[in-house]
Amino acid sequence: MWTFQLPTKITFGRGCVASLSTMPEMAGRRTVVVTDPVIARLQAVQTIIEQLAPVALYKDVRPNPTVENADTLAELLRTTQAEVITAVGGGSALDCAKTASFLAKTGDSSIRAYHSEGKSIIGQNIPVIAIPTTAGTGSEVTPIAVLDDEEKNVKAPMMSPLFYPVCALVDPDLTLSVPLAVTAATAFDALSHAIEGYWSRNHQPICDALAKEAARTIFENLDKVFDNLGDPVARERLSYAALLAGIAFQMPKNAIMHACSYPLSNRAHLSHGAACAFTMEASIRLNTPYMIGRMEEFANACGFASIDAMIETITKLKRRGGLPITLADAGIDADMVKLLISESFHPVIKNNPKEVTTDDLREIYTELGG
Ligand code: NAD
Repeated sequence: MWTFQLPTKITFGRGCVASLSTMPEMAGRRTVVVTDPVIARLQAVQTIIEQLAPVALYKDVRPNPTVENADTLAELLRTTQAEVITAVGGGSALDCAKTASFLAKTGDSSIRAYHSEGKSIIGQNIPVIAIPTTAGTGSEVTPIAVLDDEEKNVKAPMMSPLFYPVCALVDPDLTLSVPLAVTAATAFDALSHAIEGYWSRNHQPICDALAKEAARTIFENLDKVFDNLGDPVARERLSYAALLAGIAFQMPKNAIMHACSYPLSNRAHLSHGAACAFTMEASIRLNTPYMIGRMEEFANACGFASIDAMIETITKLKRRGGLPITLADAGIDADMVKLLISESFHPVIKNNPKEVTTDDLREIYTELGG
């Protein structure tokens, strides 16, 4: 038995962002545009802002958005009486908008109560129209938002059905300006979503099918984008793959690679995508014997004759994208490895097909050069 749900309306295609101002979800409503300082300077985004004439523009979202970003935005949403939020950016801008959309409707002044102090995320929110400018997180279709609480040194995901955007407007042309390093990290974030959604203990047929299609599409197109960052067709395929991968993991949820990624980001300061990719090959080797032929099926569906061939390609793509492959590449020493292992037991690790032990993680880090 399985259930699939996705309340977000999806519009996809090159140039589709031009339809934003005439969307029924937008019509006549007071909107606040949420973005970051880099994206706010893009011509396409300036056009969006001109067309929408928002009641306010919040462009201070930081990469790995903070609790303070969400708190400030929520206050702006209250004072401007925003009726709909237009979030344009990578996962950082989208997640900031999603959390503030809820906080603005509560009597609380800080999202901290919900992020790390256990308060339940229930009630109402302001609808969010999500417009991704990276091909990675899938945040435009997930009920997840990740915030960083620098005061408590905790970067953690928050989950609630309230965080599903009402609409996802996925215009691949917005990703044409993404630099190489961000392209590599975000593509590997999407690939990790496809793999984790597929091997999660909660996996299900719809998500399995989307995961295989997403991963196959990434393997077919990432090299092409590395060859030419301005290749519109290959960029479109990556946006499509990231969207599918987002749908593929949003219900089954993540597992070992994401559990390991949180301390890798917190302690070793790897970007989210680089952190997810760091343990990818070793995690595939760990999980394969516990998946009764399913990992071979995944590799074959992606066009590989074997799992080893798929792993080899993963390492090659990481190298081409400049992502760290060994502990030395990532600047991680033996003392830090102990900390990384002890902090990798985030609850999502329970979704992993192989029950993960400290010894498993020790072996993974040994394989990485520890
Ligand atoms: P990001 O939003 O932090 O952006 C990374 C950098 O790329 C920023 O400097 C940004 O300005 C720049 N950038 C973005 N789009 C650009 C463009 N079109 N042209 C030029 N520069 C551009 O990166 P991200 O990887 O998209 O998001 C990462 C965040 O999302 C992390 O906090 C991560 O934990 C979170 N995340 C959320 C989910 C979810 O389901 N909500 C899933 C995975 C990750």
